[in-house]
Amino acid sequence: MRGGIFDRIVLIQGDTSVRFRDHDHRRLGEIATVGAPRFDELDIFRIPAGTGFDPAQPWRLQLLTQRDVAALERAFTTFELSYQTPPAYLTEISQPATVMAENVHDAQAERTAQMVLIERIWRDRQVEIAVLAVMLTLLTGVFFFQSYLTRSERRTYWFRMSFLTVTLFFLGWYANAQLSVVNIMALFQSMMGGFSWQAFLLDPMTFILWFSVAASLIFWGRGAYCGWLCPFGALQELTNQIARKLRVPQFTLPWGLHERLWPIKYMIFLALFGASLASLEWSERFAEVEPFKTAIVLKFDRAWPFVLFALALLFAGLFIERFYCRYLCPLGAALAIPARLRMFDWLKRYRECGSPCHSCANECFVQAIHPTGEINPNECLNCMHCQVLYQSETKCPVVIRQLKRRETASGSTKRSVEALDRAINTKPATKETDNV
Ligand code: SF4
Ligand code: SF4
Repeated sequence: MRGGIFDRIVLIQGDTSVRFRDHDHRRLGEIATVGAPRFDELDIFRIPAGTGFDPAQPWRLQLLTQRDVAALERAFTTFELSYQTPPAYLTEISQPATVMAENVHDAQAERTAQMVLIERIWRDRQVEIAVLAVMLTLLTGVFFFQSYLTRSERRTYWFRMSFLTVTLFFLGWYANAQLSVVNIMALFQSMMGGFSWQAFLLDPMTFILWFSVAASLIFWGRGAYCGWLCPFGALQELTNQIARKLRVPQFTLPWGLHERLWPIKYMIFLALFGASLASLEWSERFAEVEPFKTAIVLKFDRAWPFVLFALALLFAGLFIERFYCRYLCPLGAALAIPARLRMFDWLKRYRECGSPCHSCANECFVQAIHPTGEINPNECLNCMHCQVLYQSETKCPVVIRQLKRRETASGSTKRSVEALDRAINTKPATKETDNV
């Protein structure tokens, strides 16, 4: 499957050819019918409505195969299998009214069958849905009460690393819940051509994730997803952390260059979006700029150019943290566009942030803080590190100064209290002296 399309199988009937998309496919465990042939793999492909396919007419299935014949040369061969639905399964209908009634009945039957299928899929994935719900609840709690978590740098770091590990291993490699820019384009196309929830409900994890991402965009911008729930983002960050432990040098790009590289991801997103208006199939192919399918869905078990591309991005991320997220990710760009619409500013700042202090700007792992101190909401991934610094009694000069002031004030209060005590203790003597 490439770009969500099974590009080696095509169904042909007269002038009509039908290619199958990933959402038209379902893997089967086995066929329960007695005497059914046994195969290692069994799959159902659904022929989408509106293709002009007539099941009563003969058709053929074509399989394209390839073989490497030299270092850079491949031979291609096609195999075909013809089929004609046996007459026993066909009914001749001549009355148009009957045909319409049958069509209405078919449409209802199709809807009912789809609802049954959706129910079954959601039931089958109960455990995954429950774990995702726990993750989302935990993350929401942490965001709302971030000032408690970020009181300790160590606690924040280990919470984040643990969460990202679950995101990578459970959400990504186990549940394949990796959102993609293709989802956005499919949603847009679906809205243009009569929106239907059913197609989206077929994948519960993606559905729940998109739903929560849409809600979180209003509160926290793109950071809730990009910073915590994206499996490829987690893979980049965890590999970078390992690289740091192994003392791999880290590079900070000069601000001017960094700022000029940001727009690349927006350009990629707009190009993909434009391509999707012309053809969703094209845009799905171009969307291979996202290494998600290679690194997360197929776990690097793919043709070498794709694997090489994904590894190259991860390699760059060892030296420049979240290299792909910062400059190339079209999904990150799409999520960043509505960032300015968010209703709250959760990240606290002091007047001194940016002038004269640059601690947060220097330590922000994606360089999302301007030298002048403002946080760029389009680039911030809500890692909360600047909130750790905001409360740090060892790193933040504002907190250190406040503490010193308090100490001095409490010192002078203490001295005043001592003086008062002394005065009170010496008062009777003074009185006696006065009396004398
Ligand atoms: S920018 Fe892209 S890869 Fe990075 S975390 Fe966001 S969606 Fe994932
Ligand atoms: S350090 Fe602050 S500004 Fe930078 S990504 Fe983390 S939360 Fe956002």
